[in-house]
Order: sequence, then C-alpha cells, then structure tokens
Amino acid sequence: MLKKEAKELISFIESSKGFDNNAKLKLILFSAGVKPNTYVSLRISTKNLDEKYHFEQHLKKAGFLSQISRPKTYEEIEKISKNKALWNIKGTWYGYDLFSNRKNKRLFQKYFSLVKKQQHDKADLIAGKLYGYPKCCINRFIEEHDLKKLAKKYSYYAFYDKLHTLDKRFPFLSHTPCSLKCKDSIKINNDYRMIVKKSASRFWKEYTRKQSFTTKLVVDYESDIFLDKINEKDGHDYGIISLTKFKGHHYVFSNLSKKHYLRGTILLAKVTVQYDYAIIKIKKIVRLLNNFHHQRKLLGKK
Ligand SMILES: [Zn+2]
Repeated sequence: MLKKEAKELISFIESSKGFDNNAKLKLILFSAGVKPNTYVSLRISTKNLDEKYHFEQHLKKAGFLSQISRPKTYEEIEKISKNKALWNIKGTWYGYDLFSNRKNKRLFQKYFSLVKKQQHDKADLIAGKLYGYPKCCINRFIEEHDLKKLAKKYSYYAFYDKLHTLDKRFPFLSHTPCSLKCKDSIKINNDYRMIVKKSASRFWKEYTRKQSFTTKLVVDYESDIFLDKINEKDGHDYGIISLTKFKGHHYVFSNLSKKHYLRGTILLAKVTVQYDYAIIKIKKIVRLLNNFHHQRKLLGKK
C-alpha cells in the first residue's frame, strides 16, 4: 500500500499542467517507489504559476530529495503562417533531479562529477544503477556510443526503424532496451504498466487512449545523428509538424520513410497517437511551401 503522502503526490502529478506525459510517467513510477531516482522538467507559464511551489511541498511531505536547476525559458510554435513556423517564449522551466534517499543523491553526485570529467562509460554504468536500467541494455548503450561503429552495423533505415520499434514495444520504459527480446526490459515494462494502472488510473486512461485524426503536416528537418558517417542512406527520418493544433500545440512528430520529401512539403495524413508516439499514414502530397523556415522571437539584447 502506498503512503498517503505518495498518493497525494501522484494525484497532484496527474492533474498538473506543467509536466508532459513522459515526465508524468516517470514521476508516478518514482512516487510509487519502483523507480529509485528520476529526472523531469516542469514548465511554468501563466496557466500554472502555483505548480512549482505545490510540487516541492508534495515532494518534501513524501520524504523525497531533490536538486533543482535554475530557471530557463522555453518556447513553442505559436502558429504556422504561410511558410513560417513562428515561435514564441511561453514561460520558464526547471529541471528536477529526484532521489528516494541520501545514498542515491550521493551516487548521483559521483555520476555528475564523472560526466564533468568526460568519463562517459563509467558515468553511464552508474546512471544505469541510479535509474534502474538493466545491465545488458547499459552495456549495449555504451557500445553504441561510437557513431562510426553504429554506422557500420546499421543502415540509416534499419537504425531508425529499430529505435521506433523499441519505442512502440516498450511505452513504459525510459531507457533504450538492448533488443526487442531483452527479458529484463520486457519484465520491467510489464511491471511498470501494472503499477501505473493500479496507482494512477486517471493518467493511465489518458496515456493508453488511442486517438486518430486526419490532418495536414509539414515536413521539416531530417534526423542526422550519423548522416556523415553512414554508407547506406536508404531512408529518411523526418520531423513533421502538425499544421493544426492538437491538444493546444503544434506537435512535431517523427516519421521514418523510404521516400524522400522536400522540406516544406505539406502532406495529408492519418495520425494515430497513443502512449508517447504517433503512427503516421501518409495519404497524399498536398503542395510545397517554398523556403519553409522557423522564426523565433528574440529576447532584448544584453
Ligand atoms: Zn537488455
């Protein structure tokens, strides 16, 4: 049974406006005591000014420790007008490193100092322990740090297809499993699913609900983490922006395709959203926005 304070924290998280689904998922698992530590960001705008204070009160009451970043501003696409995506500053965000106890907080500080010293492999081993990731997946993650090796092992399409497939298969995990058959990952994903269903039914309904709609999308940048190293360029992983707002936002979806589209191509597509991903079925090309680009509002110079 969860303590009253943990239940109150979960109920606060479920109804908050400042956490996205991914953050809510991690926070619920952390509050329920199955994730030892976690990291989330909280967005504060004029719509939820009191959430920072309330979140911190709930954390304290539940006995959790935190390390909070300094405020940073965040922006969102406000509208898409002609061939421009117009961005505007919407508010402030804070990063929260959260720990279940002091020992874990100390371990995190060790992790942090290793990152600073650029000892990434050692740091990642500790991160695995901190966040409860399976050893096999951590080892694979460390192996695949080397983009040159990665580019030898996979074609462009195979690499992104693997990432998307893992995402769909394991919607309750925040690490990348070493394979679709990883036993530990399958077990953790199932355990997490049960915990969320049992302890956060409101979020459960929202997260698992499947929603489909037909909309126009505009093709933006292509993912290119190892484009310069790859031998076999046999696909395109595009960022695709919804022209109409969904749940109040112009979402950027990612879509892997064998076909090449010019940046600015408007597509008519059926989008199906569930968990934290979208499946996009392109119906047809509508037209091309020449010179599609982003325009940002700048802060005053200083
Ligand atoms: Zn694994």
